[in-house]
Amino acid sequence: MSRIAYVNGRYVPHRGAAVHVEDRGFQFADGVYEVFAVAGGKLIDEELHLRRLARSLAELRIEKPFSEPVLRHKMRELLRRNRIANGVLYLQITRGAAPREHAFPKGVKPSVVMTARPARPPDPSFGERGVAIVTIPDIRWRRCDIKSVSLLPNVLGKQHAKEAGAYEAWQVAEDGHVTEGTSTNAWIVTRDGTLVTRPADHAILNGVTRITVLALARKEGLAIEERGFTVAEALAAAEAFLTSTTSYVTPVVRIDGNPVANGAPGRFTKKLLSRYRSYVAAPEA
Ligand code: PMP
Repeated sequence: MSRIAYVNGRYVPHRGAAVHVEDRGFQFADGVYEVFAVAGGKLIDEELHLRRLARSLAELRIEKPFSEPVLRHKMRELLRRNRIANGVLYLQITRGAAPREHAFPKGVKPSVVMTARPARPPDPSFGERGVAIVTIPDIRWRRCDIKSVSLLPNVLGKQHAKEAGAYEAWQVAEDGHVTEGTSTNAWIVTRDGTLVTRPADHAILNGVTRITVLALARKEGLAIEERGFTVAEALAAAEAFLTSTTSYVTPVVRIDGNPVANGAPGRFTKKLLSRYRSYVAAPEA
């Protein structure tokens, strides 16, 4: 079966799927995106993703290309055409194609692209053994709360992590606080058992997984503090982990080559991973 992509109203063979050379996503990174996990035929946390998408579009003053019910229908149609029950759906909306000029073009329709592919949940060995991360300076702009396709610092950061043999890079702001990973949110559990993650300010993307894990942690009765933490604090913590749509809850056991606590995934992290897996299996439970 051949893969199908959605491009501006058409379902087309993935191989030849293309946008115009003057699309503003291509020329200016003038667009936003979302990545949805699909599990058991369901779009996980669809509402939260669509809410964040609407917010990103509004912040960049990109017009909504169609109503939410129409978008939901198109997403399902793409999954159906690709026969995907477990996988990932990527959605990108740009300001559209227009002669290259920085200011917004007039009367241009946004471009909408969607792709879907089958994918498995994260490798269970990550949950069992944990992963190593490295730290890098956060060189991004001051609106990281917008899920823009402008991801160059994130791309460079992830490549740095890869070359260092690490799973992810945690970005560190000038004030010494960790902001987030290049495609994940960052968390620690202090020695007195408090879950700590940065508040959803303009320095981070408010991850949908972050929101869901916070809710699961509240349900578990865990103590939670939304505040920044330093790398030194993470190294002195009892546990560390990262979250994202495709990484779920992944224990972080080494930071810049140094072990976090005893270098094994922590108790709270394992519990949250287990709760998150159950949530993905039965989202409304
Ligand atoms: N931060 C950044 C910079 C990201 O790109 C992502 C992944 N989109 C996340 C955090 C995690 O967000 P989510 O839980 O919605 O996947």
